[in-house]
Amino acid sequence: MEEDGAAGAPPGPDENGFPAYWAGRCGGLAEMDAELVRCRACPRLVGWREETAARPRAAFRGQEYWARPVPGFGPADAALAVVGLAPAAHGGNRTGRMFTGDASGDFLFAALHTVGLASQPTATGRGDGLELYGVRVTAPVHCAPPENRPTPAERRTCRPWLAAELELLSPSLRAVVALGAFGWQALLPVLGETGWPLPRPRPAFGHGVQLTLPATGQRRELHVLGSYHPSQRNTFTGRLTSEMLVELLARAAGLAGLTP
Ligand code: SF4
Repeated sequence: MEEDGAAGAPPGPDENGFPAYWAGRCGGLAEMDAELVRCRACPRLVGWREETAARPRAAFRGQEYWARPVPGFGPADAALAVVGLAPAAHGGNRTGRMFTGDASGDFLFAALHTVGLASQPTATGRGDGLELYGVRVTAPVHCAPPENRPTPAERRTCRPWLAAELELLSPSLRAVVALGAFGWQALLPVLGETGWPLPRPRPAFGHGVQLTLPATGQRRELHVLGSYHPSQRNTFTGRLTSEMLVELLARAAGLAGLTP
């Protein structure tokens, strides 16, 4: 009996099976986020998020870094989801809020504010007063990776959190914006696994690419849009301008029923 009990014990936060076991068992996003922040399933990313916190940038010296998985940010009944890549080492990993405290987030939240989906154009930290209206910002990998590059294995390990988040959002969700090719490639299989029928072959990523996944018995119609990621590499070079991002987010907000 003892052996059975040990074999059947739920995986602990350090174990690879922790996300797959817990994510789907959570009855709401607050519960899921509480489990998520305990996760230590990817040793390399746990090491990096803590090492970064131990060596803060000069500008952030004296601040206590979050140094844990960063949950999605926004209401639990969002009609629109924005799916990025992963938290930045000195951004979300420092502030504990997705896209908060780095240049990419400044660009994204300013655009969301212009479209009327954010209460203010700036995001500096939890407690800065920022509210999102009808939109939730999240990522397929919840811990900051070295060089912003999670491995395929880390992406797979973290995937159940995004699948559960989309499942929990699904009663209200009408549209999703994937930021960058990574967000696109990570998002589509998760949508497929969670019950939305995907076209075959899967459409390639591009800025402005739009799919409409038809309603099924379990799922309502879902619009999926691709946008260049608001990384400095894209924004400094003009590949992604504020106008382009505002136009795309406004289109997504309209498809989600958030704007007339
Ligand atoms: S990346 Fe995801 S699965 Fe890996 S430790 Fe962080 S939260 Fe857990």
